[in-house]
Amino acid sequence: MSSEEQLQWILTQADAVMTNLGIDETEAVVKLRDNFHHLDQDMQNIHQMKSPGGFTCFCGKHYKTEGHFRRHLCKVHKWKFHVPPKTESLGDAVSCFLRMACLLFDTNDAYKMADGERCTRNAKLEWLYASATKHYKYQLWLWRMVSYTIALLSPRESFEYKWNISTNLVGGVDKNIPNDNCVELQVKTIKNQLKTQGANKSFNSARVITLTTQVLDDVKMNVMKENNTLHSSRVRPGVDKRTDIMAIANCILSMCSGQVTDLEWKSFVKFKKPLESIDAVKLYQWIDENKIISNNTMLN
Ligand SMILES: [Zn+2]
Repeated sequence: MSSEEQLQWILTQADAVMTNLGIDETEAVVKLRDNFHHLDQDMQNIHQMKSPGGFTCFCGKHYKTEGHFRRHLCKVHKWKFHVPPKTESLGDAVSCFLRMACLLFDTNDAYKMADGERCTRNAKLEWLYASATKHYKYQLWLWRMVSYTIALLSPRESFEYKWNISTNLVGGVDKNIPNDNCVELQVKTIKNQLKTQGANKSFNSARVITLTTQVLDDVKMNVMKENNTLHSSRVRPGVDKRTDIMAIANCILSMCSGQVTDLEWKSFVKFKKPLESIDAVKLYQWIDENKIISNNTMLN
């Protein structure tokens, strides 16, 4: 087989794996989008009756809070608000794990390649996963990242943010690291240099250090290069995973007597797909609250 034929073969296999395991399935996202669409319509209908200090119904009654007003509309005017249908479908844990693993792998790769566009695109799906698995800190962080890049910043600033999403310290196409990791490294260097000053450290000396660490590092590297000094490698040695992969393959083969079909994972019998377990109403309210917060604070 030529190398191109080999590539084609491996791409076909990857496609087959993606389809068979349902990794490219988008059903949960489509359902969530439909729910949000209906909730949006309800919200628009209510906001049409917004008045100073609350809501005024078309029958003349005034309500201070949205909850009371909604109850009035249901009780007196027989309005029906959208209630997302309950989905209790059990999911395939392996498929979900692989999908999240692919997402993580792709995001890591995007940061290494300084592909800001891909990082922000993946952040939308990561935000959904963070919301589903109740990782509130990451949910908020990813929400802010996405809303800044697509809505709050000017097109020019948004482009700049995506362009400068990672930093290259050692050279090489795929050797970029995320900017916050770079800041951590910088802080560590600055702290180390401050320690060498002992009792003489002051605000001014700290300022000088922060301005000169990069230059000092370059000078040091140059001297080391000129003197042919050996320096410790910055790259970690790769981990040999062959034993692990053989152990996994042997475990699967022993469960299926030589042929892998319809595996049952006893530990994950009650597994639910994370994206299907999202409470659409709660997430919608969360977005609404955060829109208000962004409107008031994030631009200042
Ligand atoms: Zn009314």
